Amino acid sequence: MQPIQDIFPLLSQPRRVVVTMHQKPDADAMGSVLGLQHFLVQLGHQVQVISPTNWARWLDWMPSVDAVLDYELHRAKSDEYMEAADWIFCLDFNHLARTKGMAKKLAEVAAQKILIDHHEQPDMVQFAYGISSPGKSSTCEMVYDLIVESGHRDKINKPVSECLYAGVVSDTGSFRFSSTGASVHHMVAYLKEMGLEHAKVHESLFDNFLENRLRFLGHILTNRMEVDYLNNTALVYITRQDLYKYDIKTGDTEGIVNYPLSIQGIKLVGFVVDRDELRKWSFRSKGAFDCNTFARTYFNGGGHYNAAGGHDLESLEKTIQSFKKAISENEHLLQ
Ligand code: 5GP
Ligand code: MN
Repeated sequence: MQPIQDIFPLLSQPRRVVVTMHQKPDADAMGSVLGLQHFLVQLGHQVQVISPTNWARWLDWMPSVDAVLDYELHRAKSDEYMEAADWIFCLDFNHLARTKGMAKKLAEVAAQKILIDHHEQPDMVQFAYGISSPGKSSTCEMVYDLIVESGHRDKINKPVSECLYAGVVSDTGSFRFSSTGASVHHMVAYLKEMGLEHAKVHESLFDNFLENRLRFLGHILTNRMEVDYLNNTALVYITRQDLYKYDIKTGDTEGIVNYPLSIQGIKLVGFVVDRDELRKWSFRSKGAFDCNTFARTYFNGGGHYNAAGGHDLESLEKTIQSFKKAISENEHLLQ
């Protein structure tokens, strides 16, 4: 993988570009992809955004989200764009498997793949150019760095800043996680100087749910949370019936994993959703517990030190047992 700086001189020649992100994109994935798109079109590139799957309805306010192709719904058209592309930017993931059904196509097309990502342990061989910075708050911050370092700060217009700000807010837990470096605040200061209406973005992200989601949250915290004070760990599980009863859609479960961390002393939260094809895990920790290693070791996953995810093909009951066993094997790290 050649350094991302090597593409800077090439940015002035218009190319056919695809920009993509991990499946079930969150605000950082969708924000970075659309922020980059709004930047690249100003340089004359033809840009198509393709999402491997659908996304949360509370991301639908983002500028140009209507033009994003959902790979699962528009496979043939998406394949055509990927086959014709000179460059495919891969944002907010670092293993092709994170793009679900798109991974095979991504691996076989001739386009040069360009990585911009902040997760641990990238699969570098897949990418012609790129940057992997696990210390960075968000992929949106990295897209901002790319725009500034390539000499195009003047291209940061309203759509670019709204998209990039959304990802930064979301991945830093509204500026509270330790990944929030001074560079994040410098970036936001610049976006504000350029006229960013930050309150509008916060409202769009956090005050944009339907009533059922709040009632669902109440049910989950009351009936589906177990706290293990001996191991300073909480478990939250969501059954298929819960999803059905509360009409839960993509994105509605996001963020719930963080609530148990507000209990005094809790260092790790395991959160599992019984989805159709698999049991999807999220892990969050405070302080010195490595969720990335935990997710990789026990649940075919990965991510960051304090936030990671994974999955299990076993039943909900079995995967919960596996989690409890994994906690007992790690109890020395949780005291
Ligand atoms: P979440 O729990 O919000 O789905 O994900 C937490 C972090 O871990 C995110 O940065 C996400 O991209 C990453 N992540 C989630 N699931 C997986 C997975 O199955 N594999 C890998 N490598 N990373 C994941
Ligand atoms: Mn991210």
